[in-house]
Formats: sequence, structure tokens, C-alpha cells
Amino acid sequence: MNTDERECIFCHIARGDHPADILYQDDQVVAFKDINPQAPWHILIIPREHRDSLNDAAPQDEALLGHMLRIASKVANHIGIAKEGYRVVINTGPRAGQSIFHLHLHLLGGRLLRWPPG
Ligand code: 5GP
Ligand code: ZN
Repeated sequence: MNTDERECIFCHIARGDHPADILYQDDQVVAFKDINPQAPWHILIIPREHRDSLNDAAPQDEALLGHMLRIASKVANHIGIAKEGYRVVINTGPRAGQSIFHLHLHLLGGRLLRWPPG
């Protein structure tokens, strides 16, 4: 484990070393509620293995990325927002507002989501 991963808050959550309101987890991903929700439902889906951002996704990560998306739809269905609609977002890099540099997918729903986002 490198220094980044020792200090990364999402690695701590994935290892169970930091509390989080977890809705789903398996051997590849963890889904938990965002601490500062921007919608009635705001869930983060992270890979257990650290990657700084989508920019670090390698060809061998394609199955993992697909799994993250499928789990987003599974969680959306589980919490009852699949039919009314939800949004999946991956902020990548400082200009897109990425503040935690451990790859994560936002699942947002439970209200009308306007387009385009800011
Ligand atoms: P980003 O801005 O990088 O796309 O998203 C990071 C998200 O992580 C933010 O929405 C922020 O509220 C959330 N977050 C930051 N620290 C924590 C934490 O310790 N626990 C949880 N559950 N969410 C966090
Ligand atoms: Zn991490």
C-alpha cells in the first residue's frame, strides 16, 4: 500500500477503518451515502482498489468500470428511484470539481435534476 492509499479517506471507508452509511458492498466496490448530500439520494460508489481518478483507468479496469455502473442501477432500483430517474456523475480533475482523489461515481436522485449541470 502506498502513502496515498494510507491517507485516502475512501480507502479507509473501503477497509472499514472509517465510518460510512453503506448501502451495498461486494469484493470490488462499496456504495455509501455522501456526507454532504446534493439531493435527497446522494450515494457514492467506489472501487475497493485505489485509483486517483477516471484518468487512471487502465484497459484491464473496463470490467470494474462496467460493474460500478451496474451497481449504480442496482442501488437506484433498491432505493426506489430507478423509474423516476437518477443521474450518475464522475467528476474528473480539479476543473470538474473533483475533491477526493479516489475514483468514485456519484448516484443522485430523489428530486428534479436540471440540465446542464453547473
Ligand atoms: P468529488 O467532489 O470529488 O466529486 O466528490 C467527493 C464527495 O465525497 C463529495 O460529495 C463529498 O461530500 C464526499 N465526501 C467527502 N468526504 C467524505 C466522507 O468522509 N464520507 C462520505 N460519506 N462522503 C465524503
Ligand atoms: Zn483511496
